[in-house]
Amino acid sequence: MQRWKVGDVTITRIIETEDASMSAAIMLPDATPANLVAIKWLRPHFVTGEGQLISSVHSLLVESCGQRIVIDTCLGNDKQRIVPQWHRRQGRFLDEIAAAGFARERVDFVVCTHLHPDHVGWNTMLVDGRWLPTFPSARYIFSAQDWAWLDKAPVSALGDYAGDSVRPVFDAGQGECVAPDFRITDEVWLESTPGHSPGHVSIRIASRGEQAVVTGDLMHHPCQLARPHWSSPFDFDKQMALRTRLDFISRYGDTPVLVFGSHFATPSAGRIVRDGDAWRLEI
Ligand SMILES: [Zn+2]
Repeated sequence: MQRWKVGDVTITRIIETEDASMSAAIMLPDATPANLVAIKWLRPHFVTGEGQLISSVHSLLVESCGQRIVIDTCLGNDKQRIVPQWHRRQGRFLDEIAAAGFARERVDFVVCTHLHPDHVGWNTMLVDGRWLPTFPSARYIFSAQDWAWLDKAPVSALGDYAGDSVRPVFDAGQGECVAPDFRITDEVWLESTPGHSPGHVSIRIASRGEQAVVTGDLMHHPCQLARPHWSSPFDFDKQMALRTRLDFISRYGDTPVLVFGSHFATPSAGRIVRDGDAWRLEI
């Protein structure tokens, strides 16, 4: 469990998976071992000695203004998925968040940067054969534009994650569709970063003069700071995703804002600094 302070806000990372198993061919086809050799700062934290990308699936638990906020809910347990590492997982996520002071009954807000299966899994849990909201007292915050898209989309080839991880939250009356600049507390709010999904949002944090931002999947790996044009086959709109990524880098590059990458391997956060005619993550 790793913890950061941003002013009065506490951010705790809970990792569900972290390894080099997600091949570049799936996540970022351009990030081949040969193409990664030149980006030396990626080793050893973000690329293995053999040139494989290291990535993680993690949640960030945020305490702000007396509110407990879960940002992204990873893969979840018991879900039927075609990706072998995602299928019917039996992880200890709930024990780990409880140990971090986030017992599921005490969570006030759940916010998903976007509606993909590795960001919504623990929205629900299997109870007596039914999918029920994992966090019984939480308001679940979803980008209105993302839900409008997913609600109408055909069942994903990855598995019916809308049906098992999002729809039950609305059925229980806990889902809220919000604008992409929705404010959760005085210190935590959404920032519109569309492209990877139609209503994708990042999460901004500011407290006592310190600032942070959680990327979501506007970039998947720190190598995209050096090569912003490398894109994911899972981007809903590749051109929009690229524009958003370039905007994000120019907005936060060479600033004191601490950047949390939603799939960045340990240490998962750093500052974007200039590196010749590109950028790198300073950790
Ligand atoms: Zn993701």
